[in-house]
Amino acid sequence: MQKEYQVIIIGSGFGGQVAAINLNKQGISDYLILERKHTMGGTWVQNTYPGAAVDIPSPLYSIAREPFNWSQLFAGQEQLREYTEYIIRKHKLREKTSTDSNVTKIEWIESIYKWRIHIVNKGIVHAQFVVNASGPLSNPTIPKFKGMESFQGVTFHSGSWDHSYDYKGKRAAIIGSGASAAQIIPKIAPDVAELHILQRTPPWVMPRYDYKFKEWQRSILKNKTIYKLLRLCIYWWLELRVIGLKYSKTLLKLLGRDIAIRHLNSQIKDPELRKKVKPKYTIGCKRVILSDTLYPSYNLENVSLYDKTSGIKEITKTGITTVTGEELGLDLIIYSTGYNTVDNALPYEVIGRDGKSLAEEWEDFPRAYLGTSVPYFPNLFMILGPNTGIGHTSAIFIIESQLKYIINSIQLLNKLKKKSIEVKESAEARYTEHIHKEMASTVWQQGGCNSWYKSKSGKIVAMFPGFSFTFRRWTKKIKNDDHKVS
Ligand SMILES: Cc1cc2nc3c(=O)[nH]c(=O)nc-3n(C[C@H](O)[C@H](O)[C@H](O)COP(=O)(O)OP(=O)(O)OC[C@H]3O[C@@H](n4cnc5c(N)ncnc54)[C@H](O)[C@@H]3O)c2cc1C
Repeated sequence: MQKEYQVIIIGSGFGGQVAAINLNKQGISDYLILERKHTMGGTWVQNTYPGAAVDIPSPLYSIAREPFNWSQLFAGQEQLREYTEYIIRKHKLREKTSTDSNVTKIEWIESIYKWRIHIVNKGIVHAQFVVNASGPLSNPTIPKFKGMESFQGVTFHSGSWDHSYDYKGKRAAIIGSGASAAQIIPKIAPDVAELHILQRTPPWVMPRYDYKFKEWQRSILKNKTIYKLLRLCIYWWLELRVIGLKYSKTLLKLLGRDIAIRHLNSQIKDPELRKKVKPKYTIGCKRVILSDTLYPSYNLENVSLYDKTSGIKEITKTGITTVTGEELGLDLIIYSTGYNTVDNALPYEVIGRDGKSLAEEWEDFPRAYLGTSVPYFPNLFMILGPNTGIGHTSAIFIIESQLKYIINSIQLLNKLKKKSIEVKESAEARYTEHIHKEMASTVWQQGGCNSWYKSKSGKIVAMFPGFSFTFRRWTKKIKNDDHKVS
């Protein structure tokens, strides 16, 4: 590994890949991608749990200029992995990546206008620019449960599924009821002896409307113009969701809640079970699950659902004791308990200009100009940083928007023959104030739920409060006056 680069990209998921592709396009080849895992690729290489699939139609959940011959509307993990590997191969990203390279700290060295990057077992590299693409959902988290260390069966997190363990015929419990659990449950329920679902808050569930493309349709979709047209239709259809999430309670009710309630009533007949799975918060406040198979699996004889009133008291040597005193004997506990997201936003230490620590700067809540740059942290760009989450459409659309801003910043610096660019405090403060003003009317703030979108400050720090085309517009051109260069 060379010791100095113009750009270091941390993470090799779609964020890192899109960054590298854009650098290539600008003729910048002096960069390296650092990936802590042995295999590059990010989300869809690492999340291999049964049923893993995207929730945004694949022609949109893909890189704009990189169409793919999808076999169905919502691609499964295997095809998303195939797509990831195709992108890596096509753009020769493997030779630009150092795997097994876990970054633990980066620090800005003002005297040389460079970041010093610390990598476990590989020492230090320097770079003028750092693009953080370490992923908002790449650090699995498991809450502390009393007695959890004593359990003598098998446990793993949904994000690191142990495929060497055969769950068939076993007594299993799944803790959590979010997006991953909703995909795992229908896949494993028919094969396990027992499945105990320990749900804290029920999700809203809507029909998935998945569709397997016929061979002739796949042939037609090889035509780039037709593919682009389909992508555009999906984009604008999904963008309508923002009207409900932010502006119109009536639309949210008509196109969200009413459909979800009909879905629930048609798929679950038992009134007790219906009561347990019907959310009490406004639809959209947490990520909405798209599934036609989740509710039917609740009806299976070997499946039992526990809610807050009958949930976990403690984990024991042999299983789980519920708050109602029931003893669940178990062979397997699956933690589908999500990812470390908002309050500890980057998985490594970041020390900027004048010794400022990013963790301290973000103690109140994480914040960044265009979700990408922070005052006192020159030449550092964060992909999918604070307030860039976008439940209604594709995260890749946001990543590609951020890259426009990042590339514009690098170009501006080169044009001015300067070495560092930093967003002004006043510009970041104005931006953040605007974001949280806009957030006030959204369902994430008002919907009466606790979600991973919210930081401990009570502020919604994961989501972007508006249309994705607004974000694209803001990132398209750099506002020189919002930045200082030196
Ligand atoms: C199960 C699941 C389902 C999802 N479904 C959808 C969906 O339907 N629609 C949607 O829009 N989004 C979805 N997402 C969000 C998804 O995270 C984004 O769509 C996108 O894949 C993020 O890409 P990324 O490159 O930013 O992050 P990732 O793909 O997570 O890649 C980050 C990479 O950085 C590496 N890394 C992390 N820390 C370090 C470090 N310190 N040093 C070196 N390397 C490091 C990680 O190992 C990882 O390879 C889903 C996420 C998950 C986990």
